[in-house]
Parts: sequence; C-alpha cells; structure tokens
Amino acid sequence: MQDDPPMLADSHCHLDFPELQPDFAPVMARARAAGIGRFITIATEVRRHDALVALAEAHEDVFATVGTHPHWAGAERGVPADRLVSLAAHPKIVGIGEVGLDRLLTDAPWDAQQDNLAAHIEAARRTGLPLVIHSVGEDEEMGRALVRAHAEGPIRVVMHCFSGGDTLADINLARGHFLSFSGMLTFEGRDAVRAIAARVPAERLLIETDSPSLAPAPHIDQRNEPSYLRYVLRELAYLRGEDELALTRQLWRNLHAAFPKLPPC
Ligand SMILES: [Zn+2]
Ligand SMILES: [Zn+2]
Repeated sequence: MQDDPPMLADSHCHLDFPELQPDFAPVMARARAAGIGRFITIATEVRRHDALVALAEAHEDVFATVGTHPHWAGAERGVPADRLVSLAAHPKIVGIGEVGLDRLLTDAPWDAQQDNLAAHIEAARRTGLPLVIHSVGEDEEMGRALVRAHAEGPIRVVMHCFSGGDTLADINLARGHFLSFSGMLTFEGRDAVRAIAARVPAERLLIETDSPSLAPAPHIDQRNEPSYLRYVLRELAYLRGEDELALTRQLWRNLHAAFPKLPPC
C-alpha cells in the first residue's frame, strides 16, 4: 500500500439520477477534493444501461453495475440472466444489481421482485461479479434467499445500505459477504445498525453514500452527494474506536476484494 494519503471509495451511488445533474461537475469536483478516488454508480434499470456505461466511460474513476432495482421490478420484470451476463462483459461493469426485496418503500409486485432476484443471483454466479443487494424490512425472506443461493454454489454479495438485524448480518458474514454502511449510521434511532457496524469484522466492511438519497448528518433531509462520504467514515471510525486513516486503508482493500474486476490502483 502506498504512503500517499489513502483514498476513499463511494461503493454505492447513483450518479445518473436527475437530482445530481444540475451541478454534476461541481459535485464530482467536491467528491474528488474530499479524497474519493473511486465511485461505483449502481444500476436501477437495465433499460438505462447504455447511459450508465457512457457515464463510466467518461470518467476514469467511475465504474458501474447492471441490474434492476426492486422499486422498478414491475416496470422491468424478467430480464434474463443471459442478458445481464452479456451486458456485464463491458470492462467498466463491476457488479450485478442493485436487486433485492422491499415491500416497505415500494409496492412493486412481489413476484417480480423475487423473479428478478433469482435471475440476478444466476448472473452473479456465472460472472463471478458481486451481487449488490437492496433489502429493506425483508430480513427473513432475504436470509432464506441467500442460504438457498449458496446451496447451489458460491456467490459474492455486497449488502448495500445495511439496515437489517443481527440474524441477517450473521447469515451474510458466515458466507463471506460484505456489509456496506451508509449515512443511516448518523440517523437517530438507528442503534441496532450502529451496533452491527461496530462489530462487523474489519475485512467485511464497505461504506457508501447512496447519493442522492440518505444524506448523513449534518445534511439529513438534503440532497446527498458523494463528498458526504466523509461523514459516514467519521461515524464508522467513531463507532469502532478506530483511526480514520487506518480505516480508510482497510476500506480501500475491501472495495477491491468485494469488486475484483476493479483495476488495481
Ligand atoms: Zn438500494
Ligand atoms: Zn442504491
């Protein structure tokens, strides 16, 4: 590892979302000035794949994924694993998803969410790329799906914006999955997820902003942007009683372990 100031990486953001477009260049400049050296902009709809690829191609430090977010599962159901696998061949596509289960924040059809999850699991297994999972209020169903998936063969998994309980955390940790923590760590009433963030083995940790959503304190309820990753790092270091620089180095190694298609830096 180099002696330069260590770099941060936003492991999960949505750089293509409309909220970030009016001042996109300053947003990216602020993030880079805050020490963020890599961004993974996460797909929400396969139909927008070309735009996401164009964004990643335009910026050396931006990478992308391919998949259908559960909130769009009704509008985009049944994209076959074959199609995900073939789109994932692009050199800047480093993961599959985000996909998952969520009946709390969306009324997208449950059967479509489950079918999409199965196709994305298959694509992750065939490509060896990590599956980026969105799971909100579905600990039991998600736990069962992950146990079933592993019974059919190993997959890599990143649980993004982890908000589940101890049981779902332990199902993931026992299978070598990564847990990614967001600005939610700074929200009031989130003691359970803070306790999990404090106890996750260091080599299984990731951080993210999920920009433009989930802005951390002191920007809660404002638009989120990747430069606010600093607040997530600070909170995580505080919770774990760790040094921010040492944690940054660990998180950088973890990012490349979680997303092995990223070029070494
Ligand atoms: Zn999500
Ligand atoms: Zn997201």
